[in-house]
Amino acid sequence: MHNTPHPRASPPPVSRCVAYHRVAAAGGGEPIAVTAAAFARQLAHLRSRYDLVPLWGPPASPRPAGRAGLAVTFDDGWADNFHVALPVLREFSCPWTVFLQTGAVGSDPRFLTWPQVREMAAAGVRFGGHTQSHPHLTQLSRAAALEEIGASRKAIEDQLGTAAEWFSYPYSDLAPWVEELVLAAGFRYACLTHPGRARPCGILPTVARVGIYGTTSDLMFQAKLNRAGNAVIEGARVLLDLAGGRRPARPGRLPPRRGPDSRAPAHGTSIHGEAVGER
Ligand SMILES: [Zn+2]
Repeated sequence: MHNTPHPRASPPPVSRCVAYHRVAAAGGGEPIAVTAAAFARQLAHLRSRYDLVPLWGPPASPRPAGRAGLAVTFDDGWADNFHVALPVLREFSCPWTVFLQTGAVGSDPRFLTWPQVREMAAAGVRFGGHTQSHPHLTQLSRAAALEEIGASRKAIEDQLGTAAEWFSYPYSDLAPWVEELVLAAGFRYACLTHPGRARPCGILPTVARVGIYGTTSDLMFQAKLNRAGNAVIEGARVLLDLAGGRRPARPGRLPPRRGPDSRAPAHGTSIHGEAVGER
């Protein structure tokens, strides 16, 4: 597995993309944390149905013919990604990408340290930007938003010595002017969690991910994957994919869409779509 994505590498075809936050050694923790046991069951399910591929860069091995590609991602950069998730993902030989809230790395004990990030990168894990302090970007001034976005890219490049081309919007909170800033900061691709509050306008090729939480049952996990549209969204296709195949009635915010997960308790911040405390 390559640990240094080529700066001009095209993302491989991805038909599904899942977004995790935390994996806990045992249950009873944060609602956004899946247990290690559930995580292993979910990966076994994914491996049986999809070709597990990196979000970008060359696949670890040649793609089996006729199998759709699925990429695994994590947001924020929690410390359990190193201690709990990494061993499970290694067991499944699963490539994965972590979007870092870089201001928390090495400064908040709940999050990864830079030595851990470098060790993970050496093991093939890829890293993208997720701002410096995890704000709602649309609530910031343009200058402050650009600083948040650009700082996360610079920190990753300074610490890892590799280009960071992928960005994940905190809370899937975006607007056309935010997309422009992500592009201006040097990112070339973006991720959000499906269905988020807002939809991209197509300035950046954007991957809509399926959010998986501690409250996502095995049955719901399979249902969410089955009903998800194609993950890679670009230009006008954004409208259709994020609306679950239906074009929104008017431009702007998507209508709320509820699923069984939406009944789960919120974790701290806001609830987006059916996500539980999406960060
Ligand atoms: Zn986040």
